[in-house]
Amino acid sequence: MDRALLEQQMSELPIVQYEFFETGELVFSDRVRYVCETECPQYGKSWACPPGVGTVEACRARCLSYPHALLLVTMAEVEDISDIAETLSTRAPHEEITHQVDDLFRAQGLETYVLSTESCAVCGKCAYPDAPCRHPDRMYPCVESHGILILETGERYGLEFQYGGNVVTWYSLILYR
Ligand code: SF4
Repeated sequence: MDRALLEQQMSELPIVQYEFFETGELVFSDRVRYVCETECPQYGKSWACPPGVGTVEACRARCLSYPHALLLVTMAEVEDISDIAETLSTRAPHEEITHQVDDLFRAQGLETYVLSTESCAVCGKCAYPDAPCRHPDRMYPCVESHGILILETGERYGLEFQYGGNVVTWYSLILYR
């Protein structure tokens, strides 16, 4: 991988922080899955969410088959962070940046497995569970769907996920081999 080229290309995107590390450093926990199951309205509604993504152990094994990782963070300022609709409207630009970075990795001949934010919103209505995912190449499951405690990794590298005020932060993981 030509990391210098990649970093130069990423510097042209509105990414506020990023860190390269080894996928083996990620922390997986069934507790995260429990939160999905008990608190998330998307549970059981998408191939990008549990249980469609498989068990935490299966997710962990899939992630570890891509030994290298990049965690990237973007942020956006909103008028009122308690306005859920306004806050969620900043998600699409982050997803677009994640796609662009994924494309940069692929352009170098790398295979990627990408985890991003929330549930997949590519289709108006997800094909789950009646038919296979329609766009597996564009579908990014959310980081938490795989049982990943991302704050632990972020804190280890001094990445900020909360700036306070009306600043929304989004993060994605690009796993690669
Ligand atoms: S791409 Fe479509 S079918 Fe696949 S997970 Fe996303 S919404 Fe569901």
